[in-house]
Formats: sequence, structure tokens, C-alpha cells
Amino acid sequence: MMSQVQMSDKERIRVVHAAEEVPWDIEVDVLVIGGGGCGLVAALAAAQKGVQVFVVEKEKTAGGNTSLSQAMVPAAGTRLQKEANVADSVEQMAQDILKKNHAGSDPEMTRHIAAHAAQLVDWLNDSQGVPFELVTDFLYPGHSTYRIHANHTRKGLHLVNNLVAAAAKFPNIDIAYNAPAKRLIADENGAVLGAEIEIKGIGTNLARAKKVILALNGFGANREMLKRYIPEMSEAYYFGHEGNTGEGILWGEALGAALESMAAYQSHGSVAHPHGTLVTWAVISLGGYQVNLQGQRFVNEYHGYSEHALDVLAQEGGVAVEIFNQRIYDAVLSYEDFQQCVTMGAIKRFESIEALAAGFGLPAVKLLETHEAFQKAAGKEAKDPQGRVEFGPPLMPPFYAVKVTGALFHTQGGLKIDQQARVLRPDGSCIPHLYAGGGTAVGLSGKAGPAGYLSANGLLAALTLGKIAGDEAGQAAASIVP
Ligand SMILES: Cc1cc2nc3c(=O)[nH]c(=O)nc-3n(C[C@H](O)[C@H](O)[C@H](O)COP(=O)(O)OP(=O)(O)OC[C@H]3O[C@@H](n4cnc5c(N)ncnc54)[C@H](O)[C@@H]3O)c2cc1C
Repeated sequence: MMSQVQMSDKERIRVVHAAEEVPWDIEVDVLVIGGGGCGLVAALAAAQKGVQVFVVEKEKTAGGNTSLSQAMVPAAGTRLQKEANVADSVEQMAQDILKKNHAGSDPEMTRHIAAHAAQLVDWLNDSQGVPFELVTDFLYPGHSTYRIHANHTRKGLHLVNNLVAAAAKFPNIDIAYNAPAKRLIADENGAVLGAEIEIKGIGTNLARAKKVILALNGFGANREMLKRYIPEMSEAYYFGHEGNTGEGILWGEALGAALESMAAYQSHGSVAHPHGTLVTWAVISLGGYQVNLQGQRFVNEYHGYSEHALDVLAQEGGVAVEIFNQRIYDAVLSYEDFQQCVTMGAIKRFESIEALAAGFGLPAVKLLETHEAFQKAAGKEAKDPQGRVEFGPPLMPPFYAVKVTGALFHTQGGLKIDQQARVLRPDGSCIPHLYAGGGTAVGLSGKAGPAGYLSANGLLAALTLGKIAGDEAGQAAASIVP
């Protein structure tokens, strides 16, 4: 039979005739590559099937982008929603996702993931000791009801700590840190047999596995891949985890996997510059606005934080000045991201718009004109020239302002998978023994660009697909007789 592995990709895949010819250092049932949200959930789910699970994480701690997130996970039909009398349905959730991405994700897969999200949240909450609560502080844009679930602190790091603690309770899960997988090992037909792991202090470790789950996120930290697939973000500030260098997608590609929606991503239009800290989007939702260095507003800021990044990057210097006031400052001061901006000196206070203009080197006359027009629109005295309809009350002094830029958060394209999270070739056949989830698999955020990202699509795909991949790979490995 002809080799399924592309000959030019031997660096990515070590091809062997048979498993027996490899001097394996370790044999496990399920090898999970990547110790972020997807990988840790996959490990828990697989371990529940009674199989031996080995997680390898490139960095010295677990977490990846998951630890940088706000731990927000959407799900419809959870116990928490029922207790709060929130009416929701899988169909409504799928419709919300498809509306935001303009039907740019596979509708069946979208429904499938939406259908498994509640089960995931209830399972983590009720049987794995990973706590969630229903977020009812405010309705997340694009979600038609309260369906965002998060931990009490809204910190991804705490979610990761809870997942690691849950994994520690399983005697059949081992996690190796400082242990990047370097390449997959496959036979000539492209069936995956294991991986080469470079364990710090030990050296190359050849891990044989009945099933391999790719949970190493996307390519946000790989400038070459960004140039190829998302050139508009290849020079932008990257706000995600440095470990996400895309090799999982490259390995899949080398094995002949189909890639989908490689130009889709999540970005953010309000990262303090040059401080590199996140100014919470609530500053805009609560009534703030942005101007460019000419003192002019350039778009309806309310259209979404992900797509807004490109609008900011299109301005002179790729920056904007975000303007708000004491009311908004007080309302967001409890947000850790915002606090960090304050601590780092990114947020400046002014008694007047003229002083603000002087502080940021903006043309005062133009800024005053812009501000007055904004105030009239916010006070419902006139239509907003940019078409914005959602405002807080008009902004009374004192004012605050911060220089911001647009940044890339994570990529949303990746390996095509089926409903069991098995990696697929373009002809629809499965690459034997290979599963993928999270940012390594194609997401639910449309074919291209930042606009199809509905809030919390990232963790939805990471955790739900992690559960599906772990269940499926664990079950399949358990049924293989040695
Ligand atoms: C600042 C920020 C805030 C966000 N907030 C939210 C939110 O509130 N809700 C939401 O839904 N989404 C959010 N997202 C997106 C979300 O965090 C990601 O979509 C999600 O965490 C992806 O999970 P993952 O498990 O696929 O990847 P990650 O959590 O990034 O984990 C991948 C892991 O794989 C490791 N790895 C990489 N290569 C290798 C290798 N060769 N060998 C071994 N290990 C490897 C990495 O080091 C990393 O630890 C946010 C993103 C950012 C950047």
C-alpha cells in the first residue's frame, strides 16, 4: 500500500514498518499531548474508562491558554440553569453560534458540541470537583440567555488547578511537564503508534500508545503559520500562550488530515499599548468609546471585541485611545485584567477632554467635536454617526483614557474531526488512532477572520471536545486486547 505520510514531512512524523521495530520506553493506553483545558479534560474522561493515561505538557506547568482565560464555558440545559429557572435549549445555543459565524461551521458538528456541553459542565461540577456557577452578572453578547458557566473567581488558572487536582485523584493518570512531544510515530499506512517526547533531564522518550489525543491548541505563537494562514495578524501582538506553536496541526497535515477554517481566529480590540495588558471589554459595553490619533471615532465599537481588533490595527500606528469616565472606572475596577492595567500605569485620569487630548497628543478641537457628538448620541439627542445604539449614560468628568491596540488571542482553524473527535482525511476516512480537540481541531467560529467568534467558543470546543475525545479514545483503548 502507498504510504499515507507525505515524504517531505518525515521531520514531523517518524515512519516505521511496524510497532515492534521501535525500542519503546513506555507503553500506555492513551497518550494526551498538551496539558491545557482540552488535554486535562480528555485525560479525566479517558481515565474513567479504566485505561492508563499519559499526559505530556511542553511547559513546566499545565494550563496553556486555558489558564489565561476567564474560565467562561457556555452550555445549554445544565443543572445550574434549571435551578436558576433559565430556559434554554441545545438548538438555541447552536443557532446563536451559527448566527455569529454566519453558518460558517458544520451545523451537525455545532449541534453535537452544543448537545454535549451541558453534560460536560454537570460532570465536571458534580463528579470531578471542578466547580462552576452560572454567570448572571450580565448577558454575554450573542448568547440569547444566561448560559455562560464559570468558576467563582472567573480565572482560567483556577480552572486549570482544579482540573489538575481532579487528575491527581486518578492513579491511572500521569502528567509529565517540560515534556514536549517532538513528532508522532506512525506506520506506513499512517496509523499512529505513539510519539517521541523530549523529557527535560531525561532525553528522548518513545511513548507507545493505543490512542493519541492531540490537545496542543493552535498556532497563535507560530509567526510562519500566521503569515501563511492569517497574514493580517502575523505582525500583531499575540496575547495567548507561547506554547501554542501549531505542531499538532502540522503533524496531522503530514499524516494527510484535512485542515479547515485555517484563517479563522479570535482577537481583541482593547489591549493596553505598550503595556500589553487586557482592558476589559466592559469599558466599552458600559459606555466607553475609542478614537484614533486624529481624534475621530472610526467604527461602532459595540460590534464585538474580536472583530474590533482589525479596526484598531487599521488606524495610524495600529492604535486607538479608549475614553471612559469615573462611573465606568468604578464599575470595572474589580476586574483583575483592569486592575493590572491600573497597576502598570496604563490608565490615565483627566479633568477635561482638552487635558485628555493634550495627554495623548490628540487634536483638541477635533476630539471635543467627537466627544460632543458621542454625548448627544449617548443621551439619545441625536443618532450616532457610527450607528451605535448601545450606550451607557453620557460620560461626565473626570475622564479616564488608555492607548490600546488590537491583538491576536488564539487561532480557530485546525484539523477536521468527526463527532467522535477522530481526525479525518479529506475523503472522510479516519487517521487510525488519532483524535484532536480544542485549538488543534477546527473550531466553531466561521471560515475566516475574527468576526465569527461568539464569546466563549474557545473553551466550549476545548473542554467539550476534550470530554468527547477522552471518552472515545478511552473506550476504544479499553476494548483493544493486548
Ligand atoms: C487572554 C485569553 C482569554 C480567553 N478567555 C476565554 C474565555 O473566557 N472563554 C473561552 O471560551 N475562551 C477563552 N479564550 C480562548 C481559550 O482560552 C482557548 O480557546 C482554550 O483555552 C484552548 O484550550 P486548549 O486546551 O485547546 O489549549 P491550551 O489551553 O492552550 O493548552 C494547550 C497546551 O498544549 C501545550 N503544548 C503545545 N505544544 C506542545 C507539544 N509539542 N508537546 C506537549 N505540549 C504542548 C501548551 O504548552 C499548552 O499548555 C481566551 C484566550 C485568551 C488568550
